[in-house]
Amino acid sequence: MKKLHNKSVQAAIGQVPRKARPVKRIPEKTGDGPEKPLCGDVRLTLEKRLKELRCLYDITRITGMPDITLKERLAEIVKILPLALQYPESAFARIRIHGDEFKTSRYRATAPKISAVVTVQGVKAGVVEIGYTKLPTTDGLFSKEEMLLLNAVAERLGNITEHRQAEDALQESEEKFSKAFLSSPAIIAISTLEDGRLLEVNDSFVHFTGYSREEALKLDTVDNRGWLDATGNNWVLHDLEKRGTLRNIEMATRTKTGTMHYGLISADIINIGGKPCVLSVIMDITEQKQSQELLQSISHSSPLGIYIMQHEKIRYANPQFQHITGYSQSELYGRKMLSLVFAGDTDVVQSSARYSLKHGSPYPCEFRILHKAGQVKWVMQTVSPIHYEGKRAILGNLMDITERKYLERKVFEYEEINKMKTALLATVSHELRTPLAAIKGYTTMILDYAERLGAAETKGCLRSIDNSTDKLGKLVDNLLDTSRLDAGLLMLEKTPVNITDLIKEAINAAAALEGHNRIVIKTDNHLPAVNIDARRIRQVLDNLIDNAAKYSTPRTEILVSAQKTGDELLISVTDQGQGISPGELTVIFDRMYKIEQRLNPGANGIGLGLYICQRLVEAHGGRIWAESTLGKGSKFQFTLPLTTPELKKTRL
Ligand code: ADP
Repeated sequence: MKKLHNKSVQAAIGQVPRKARPVKRIPEKTGDGPEKPLCGDVRLTLEKRLKELRCLYDITRITGMPDITLKERLAEIVKILPLALQYPESAFARIRIHGDEFKTSRYRATAPKISAVVTVQGVKAGVVEIGYTKLPTTDGLFSKEEMLLLNAVAERLGNITEHRQAEDALQESEEKFSKAFLSSPAIIAISTLEDGRLLEVNDSFVHFTGYSREEALKLDTVDNRGWLDATGNNWVLHDLEKRGTLRNIEMATRTKTGTMHYGLISADIINIGGKPCVLSVIMDITEQKQSQELLQSISHSSPLGIYIMQHEKIRYANPQFQHITGYSQSELYGRKMLSLVFAGDTDVVQSSARYSLKHGSPYPCEFRILHKAGQVKWVMQTVSPIHYEGKRAILGNLMDITERKYLERKVFEYEEINKMKTALLATVSHELRTPLAAIKGYTTMILDYAERLGAAETKGCLRSIDNSTDKLGKLVDNLLDTSRLDAGLLMLEKTPVNITDLIKEAINAAAALEGHNRIVIKTDNHLPAVNIDARRIRQVLDNLIDNAAKYSTPRTEILVSAQKTGDELLISVTDQGQGISPGELTVIFDRMYKIEQRLNPGANGIGLGLYICQRLVEAHGGRIWAESTLGKGSKFQFTLPLTTPELKKTRL
C-alpha cells in the first residue's frame, strides 16, 4: 500500500513539465543543495501532488483512529476524497462497500466520474468513485494522476475494510468468549501451573466458592487456604502435569466458609503470555453427591434388602440384602438374581416382576430365597424400573418374612390341630363307646346271668370283653403315640434285628387274632440284620397286617415279604381287599384320614395308624407308600436303610 502510494506520487511528480516557471518556492527534500525557483506549471503540479499526498495522509490518519467503527471511518474518508481533486469546489465522491454507501452531498449519479474497484481478500467488495458535478474546463476530464490516486485510495479502502473486519471479528469473538466465560453455568478458573495462583475466575466460580473475584485472585490453590481440598488438588495437579489434560475427575473443594463442595473437574494446560497455565472447568455435583450419600445411608441402614439388577445380574446389594442371602457384596456382584431364588418359585418371581414393570406399579410377591448356608428364607419383594449408571435397571427391595411365615404356618397348624382335636374327640368318643359298650354289655350279662350261662357262653362273653379291651388298648396306644410324636417325645431304641423273625412274630400274632385270612410270608434268604427299634417296626407291621385284614374279605390271602434292594430292606404287605382309589392313595397317610365309612362299614379305627407308621418309618430313615387297585387289593411297602448310623437312641 505504502509502496503503491509512493509510486503514484512519484509518477505524478514525473509528469511535472520541464518548463520552469517562477512561482512560490516549495521546499524540496532532494538534498542539501540550494533551493531552485519553480515555474507556475510546476508549482501547480506540485500543489496537485501535495493535495493527493494530504489525501492519502488523511486516509492513513483516519485508519489509525482508535475506537471508531469501519462505517464511521469510511464516512470520514469519503469526505476528504473531493479535496484531492483539482477542482474540489465542484467535486464529489462516493464509496460503496458490502452494500453500505457513503457519499458527499454533491454526488450526482449522471455526472462525469472515474471509479476504482475495492477488493477485499481478492474478491470485489465495492467501488470508489470521484467526479465533478460540472466541469470547470474542457481540456480533458480526469488526469492520469487522479486515476492513480483513485486506485491507491481503492487499495487502501480494501485494506482498511479487511483489517477492520478481522479486528471486528476478533473483538466480537473476544466479547463472545468473555461473555461465555463470565456467564457460563460451569465454574471456570484460569490459574498458573507453577504455583496454582488464580488468574481469572467467572461468576459461577464466585458463587460456588463464596470468594469474590478479587479475593479469589489473591488465593493460592496449592496451600490449605485455597479453594481446593489440599490432598485432592495435589493429586489433580500431578496428574494434569503428567497427561496435560484431565477429564471429569471428582474432587472436593472448599468454600470461603470452610464447607466442602464437590465438583467434576476437567482441565487443560494452556499457554498465556508464554507461561503454562491451567484452564479448569468444574461441574458442581455437590447436590448430586449429597443426595447420593443420603440414598446410600438410607440404603445402608434400611431394614429392607435392596438390590439393583441389570440384565438379570446383581449390580448392587445393600447390607440387609447381603444379610438375607448370606453372600457378600462381591459374591453377589454379577450373580444372577434368579440363582438365589428357590427353584420352585422362579416362575412366580418372574411373572410378578414382569407385571410390575409393565404396569408401573409395584406388585408384592412372596417367594423363597436360598441362603448361602442352605436355609430357606421367605421374602416379600417389590420391583421398579430405574436408571443406574446411565442404563436401564431394576430396583428390587425385599423384606425377610420368614418369621411371619413361620407364625402363619403355626397359626394354620394350630387351627388344623384344633379342628382335628374336635374331630378326634368326636371319633374317639365314638370309637371308645363301641368297645366300652361291648365290655359293659358282656360284663352285665355275666353278672346277671352267671348261673344260667353255660361255660361256652361265658367264655364267649369273656373273649368279646378281651377283644374290646384290646381295641381300647390299641386306640389309647395310638393316641398316646400321636401326642408323643407331636411333642417330639417318642424315642427309638435301635438294635440289630433279624427282619424275617420280626415279620414271623407279627404274622403269628395277627393269625392268632384274626384267624380268617391266610397270611403268607415270603422273604429272601439270609437277609442282613437291620439296625432298628424292633418294637416300633413291629408296630408298623402289625398296623399294616391289621389294615390288610380289616379291609379285605375273609379267607383272602395276605402276603408279607421282605427283600434286600441296594442298601435297604424293602418290606411289603399285599392284600386282595377292597383297594383304595388313586385320589385317596395320596392322603391315607395324613393324620386322621379315613376313607368314607360306607366303604368299610364294619371297620373301626380313627385314621391314626398309617400316620404313625409313616412317622416311625421316616424316623428310621426309610420311606413308606402304597399302591392299590380298587376292588383288587392294596400293597403297602416301606424301606429300612441298612447303613443307618449306629445311633442307639433317637428322639423323633
Ligand atoms: P384306621 O385306623 O382307620 O385304619 P389308618 O391310618 O390305618 O386308620 O388307615 C387310614 C385309612 O386308609 C383307613 O381308614 C382305610 O380307609 C384306608 N386303608 C388303610 N389300609 C388299607 C388297606 N389295606 N386296604 C384298603 N384301605 C386301607
